[in-house]
Amino acid sequence: MAKKAAAKKAVKKPVKKAAKKAAKKAAPAKSSAPKGKAHLAPYHVNSPEWHRVDEALKKRIASLPPNKALHERALKIADILQAEFPDATCALYHDNALQLIVATILSAQCTDERVNMVTPALFAKYPTAADLANAPEGELERDIHSTGFYNNKAKSIRACCREIVERFDGDVPEAMEDLLTLRGVARKTANVVRTNVWKYPGLTVDTHFLRITKRLGLTDKDDPEKVEADVANLLPPERWAHFCHSVILHGRKTCKARKPNCDECRLTQLCPSAFKA
Ligand code: SF4
Repeated sequence: MAKKAAAKKAVKKPVKKAAKKAAKKAAPAKSSAPKGKAHLAPYHVNSPEWHRVDEALKKRIASLPPNKALHERALKIADILQAEFPDATCALYHDNALQLIVATILSAQCTDERVNMVTPALFAKYPTAADLANAPEGELERDIHSTGFYNNKAKSIRACCREIVERFDGDVPEAMEDLLTLRGVARKTANVVRTNVWKYPGLTVDTHFLRITKRLGLTDKDDPEKVEADVANLLPPERWAHFCHSVILHGRKTCKARKPNCDECRLTQLCPSAFKA
């Protein structure tokens, strides 16, 4: 009897092993897709603009889980803001990518209105990247003086324009990775230029955007790149640019930093911070 059982065991073992091996073979192969791609929301995968999203942001979005409820709330918020600010667009005066880079550098710690007072004369005086790169010491500083922090801004403009001349033949590069190599150009400025000049999908994360998306519960992060990815994960790429512009206008008009005017806000039903911020 004991002999029989031992024989049975001896036969069973290799069968089990073989079955396991076969099951392993039959199992779907590990995806060669980028990590997290399987989680992409359908509005990203099917978006006609998805292929124009920069690779770094694509990867960050793919690492985030989809959130249907939050996506639906974000869409409703975007719809209301779209209705309230149908013409929302970039407020900085510009005719080309170079002018918008310079205007965005000047807009740090300064209002768009003030920048717009300075730039028409500035661009007329220095029409090319080479002109700005070679602007006489002290003169460029005087030209942009009223925008504040003029020494640092002049340094950034000169250095950035020098790089545009030396490495890109005087033309502002379109690729995100190239833009980010320019002095004074971080993702915010790169997104401003790409979305407004070449209509790439992108989110411009400024202080208004950071404050309001957090109040609206669309993100719980403080780091601009993480906020950008969180919000990008909720809306289809073709809606990003207008959403940004309208959020910024909403911040200036209603959801102000010190005292949000929730009484006048159209988003109270969708905002977890309503009458609490
Ligand atoms: S309800 Fe209040 S806190 Fe929320 S978005 Fe509107 S103004 Fe801002």
